[in-house]
Amino acid sequence: MSAADRFKHMNKGFDLGQALAEADRCLLCHDAPCSRGCPAETDPGAFIRKLRFQNITGAIRTIKTNNIMGGACGVLCPTARLCEKECSARLKSLERPEGADSPIQIGKIQRFLIEHGWQTGFQVFEKPAARPEKVAVVGSGPSGLSCAAELAQDGYQVTIFEERPEPGGVLRYGVVAYRFDMAFLEKEMQDIKNLGITFQCNHRIDGPEGAEKLLQDGFDAVFLGPGLWDAARLKPDAPAIDGLYSSVKYLSMLRDGRFNDIHQKVKDKTVAVIGGGSVAMDCVESAVKLDAKDVYLVYRRSYSQMPAESDERIEALEAGVHYLLLNQPVDFITSKQNCLTGLKLVRTQLGAPDESGRRTPELIKGSDWVLDADIVVEAIGNKAEDASPQWYPNVKVNNRNLIEVDAETGQTSVKGIFAGGDIIRGPALVVQAVQDGKVAAKAIKTYLNKQEA
Ligand SMILES: Cc1cc2nc3c(=O)[nH]c(=O)nc-3n(C[C@H](O)[C@H](O)[C@H](O)COP(=O)(O)OP(=O)(O)OC[C@H]3O[C@@H](n4cnc5c(N)ncnc54)[C@H](O)[C@@H]3O)c2cc1C
Ligand code: SF4
Repeated sequence: MSAADRFKHMNKGFDLGQALAEADRCLLCHDAPCSRGCPAETDPGAFIRKLRFQNITGAIRTIKTNNIMGGACGVLCPTARLCEKECSARLKSLERPEGADSPIQIGKIQRFLIEHGWQTGFQVFEKPAARPEKVAVVGSGPSGLSCAAELAQDGYQVTIFEERPEPGGVLRYGVVAYRFDMAFLEKEMQDIKNLGITFQCNHRIDGPEGAEKLLQDGFDAVFLGPGLWDAARLKPDAPAIDGLYSSVKYLSMLRDGRFNDIHQKVKDKTVAVIGGGSVAMDCVESAVKLDAKDVYLVYRRSYSQMPAESDERIEALEAGVHYLLLNQPVDFITSKQNCLTGLKLVRTQLGAPDESGRRTPELIKGSDWVLDADIVVEAIGNKAEDASPQWYPNVKVNNRNLIEVDAETGQTSVKGIFAGGDIIRGPALVVQAVQDGKVAAKAIKTYLNKQEA
């Protein structure tokens, strides 16, 4: 299989028989603890019960009305620490380790139901009566899409402004295609477009009047969901180096038509990825799939302290990634032509726990060494663009440039402007962004009703 083919499609999901068999294992708990484990209130307890009793359209309706990104969440949610963590079948298996119980695979059932709806042409939403109020949504990532869909279902006139050529945010320009492919995204987008939302792509909201000007231009409320698109860097002020990439740039190249460029750069080369989170895992695994000669994951703490999910860590190991743990990158080594040739590392040992409870990596004096590398990808976190507060100058932000909101409503410090997703939480999850969009949409409806009264 060619490298390009490896990036085209994600694995197939459950078929009807598999989904029914899995739903049949559900213990039908009266209090559905799995539903409490879902940050977006998608209500797996209800949709699994409906599937079990063969009410498939009812099950699809439950998901889509609670979570417009139900398909994406079914594929991408780290379910082991969300809904499936609360599953009684899992808790039973802990008591009886010799038994065959394991948590119900909720994400896979959810994905099946959404795909089944697409295959059968089932339409969940009917066209609502149009309302006069207009709402602007900035950003077409999961938070913006969720907020827009929630409002559009009630007939509000919603316009989404998106600076990139296509909608979807990180789902389109970040997550690698073998985990979440374009065909799937397009179908989920179509469900949202059917609600009558207006999309204005290639339209960046910018300038000192940016967000507030939307209110002056006739929008009755604004939702901000711009996400985090700047990369944290080891040496932020260093000049550009050939062969050094931020995770944002490297992953975008796989998705936005520059696949061949990055394949040529990585093929048969030594790649080092700095970081220990899920994004670093996407970077190392994709480097393997791009035919790199050797791929190193460089992390300053130990294996058990890595923020990446356990299955991601194991998958990367099995793919042949070399883990260089307890090593702190301190500098980039370059040739005279400013091409990257290596990464300077210092070995670390773990000291006392920091405020996060994790033991702090301490540099071991005199232990520095150089890892030869042709490509280095920095996957040490995404952050708000330094300039982002300039287009919402009156909206209060914290010292990380994250927007401050009322947690119950998503209301910012400016009347009529709401916000959600990564820009209020820092790097988080699709399902949390969906919930923020829902919370803000509910608050926007209340706000607009009060304005009318
Ligand atoms: C590589 C990667 C992999 C991930 N994998 C997972 C995963 O497997 N599971 C999971 O649950 N989460 C995952 N996440 C996290 C998840 O994708 C984010 O939490 C989620 O996308 C945040 O949604 P959002 O709506 O806040 O912003 P985003 O998805 O970032 O979307 C924001 C949108 O706003 C647009 N925008 C920004 N500024 C402006 C402006 N001024 N004017 C107009 N448009 C603007 C951007 O172009 C973008 O399209 C991953 C994140 C990354 C980076
Ligand atoms: S949205 Fe995610 S966390 Fe919620 S029930 Fe579905 S798979 Fe689980």
